[in-house]
Amino acid sequence: MPRPIQAHIDLSALKNNLRVARRHTSSRIMAVIKANAYGHGLLRIAGALEDAEGIALLDIQDAIKLRDAGNRQTILLLEGFFAAEDLPLIAEYDLATVIHSSRQLDWLDAYPRKNALQVWLKINSGMNRLGFMPQEIPAVMERLKSHRAVREVTLMTHFSHADEAAGVSSQLEAFSGLTSVYRAPRSMANSAALLRYPSTHGEWVRPGIMLYGASPFADVSAQQLGLQAVMTLSSEIISVREIRAGEHIGYAGLFRAERSMRIGTVACGYADGYPRHAPTGTPVLVNGQRAQTLGRVSMDMLGVDLSDVKDAQIGSRVTLWGEGMPVEEVARAAGTISYELLCALTARVPVRY
Ligand SMILES: *Cc1c(COP(=O)(O)O)cnc(C)c1O
Repeated sequence: MPRPIQAHIDLSALKNNLRVARRHTSSRIMAVIKANAYGHGLLRIAGALEDAEGIALLDIQDAIKLRDAGNRQTILLLEGFFAAEDLPLIAEYDLATVIHSSRQLDWLDAYPRKNALQVWLKINSGMNRLGFMPQEIPAVMERLKSHRAVREVTLMTHFSHADEAAGVSSQLEAFSGLTSVYRAPRSMANSAALLRYPSTHGEWVRPGIMLYGASPFADVSAQQLGLQAVMTLSSEIISVREIRAGEHIGYAGLFRAERSMRIGTVACGYADGYPRHAPTGTPVLVNGQRAQTLGRVSMDMLGVDLSDVKDAQIGSRVTLWGEGMPVEEVARAAGTISYELLCALTARVPVRY
């Protein structure tokens, strides 16, 4: 038998979450499947997102894999191309590509094929990560509109605070002011903006995290949004023991018992993608009941408090996150975000669909 850990991927939850997105917008949906579909498996997730009008990712080889598997949606390369030699492939496989830098524009200028490319022009409206500065846009647009290789230009930007109180207003204002003079499709919204700011929807929305069933907001739960967890990471208790007051658990004795207690060891550790920095008290489910981690997470194991889970024994099922244990809650306890936990799942964890 293999180790009992597994990630179960619920594709019907994914489809439910896509319907939730659909209920919030009439725009076309570009489902974001970067980072191996946020850790859920690129091909299986893309296959279940056939109702989305497009999919977005980073790696051209992944995009080609999807085309070879028969995918016919719009496929967008979110960081565009990384060398001039990518352009013939982008054309051949009919991919859409972000252009965010003048280096990419120069490569484009050297590319001869006519009407071959759909370009998403990325505008830096305040995030200061990728994109042209607002004052560069008129000249870049002129260059693209008259470019022999470019078939269509979509204008895009990305929000830095859509999930927080600061919101989108200053970036939305900058982007709208700049782009209103062009007759081009527009795309701004990530999950948070899709759910909270209809004025950002434009022609294309770009949800990621919500499709996987996690809330982008700290103050609204996935359940409140009607989202269902797609990934459930589970394992089993492989050891149970009683310890006395004063004894400690795991490396560095980070947890020290104040009373005698019943503890369990779970076959899941940081080499599976469980965060090593999750402190004592991070929530888990044991036999469907809430319990807490104890001590430092090891490479292959972690400790849990079984004091309140009377029926727990060797072989009891443990849910690290997913159904019944929101990944956002685990992330918050571990000082990170759901995105990082989901895409940190490691290759040794068997994934079942
Ligand atoms: C990752 C990403 C998204 C999706 O963001 P979520 O917060 O996961 O919805 C959208 N647009 C761009 C450019 C991205 O990089």
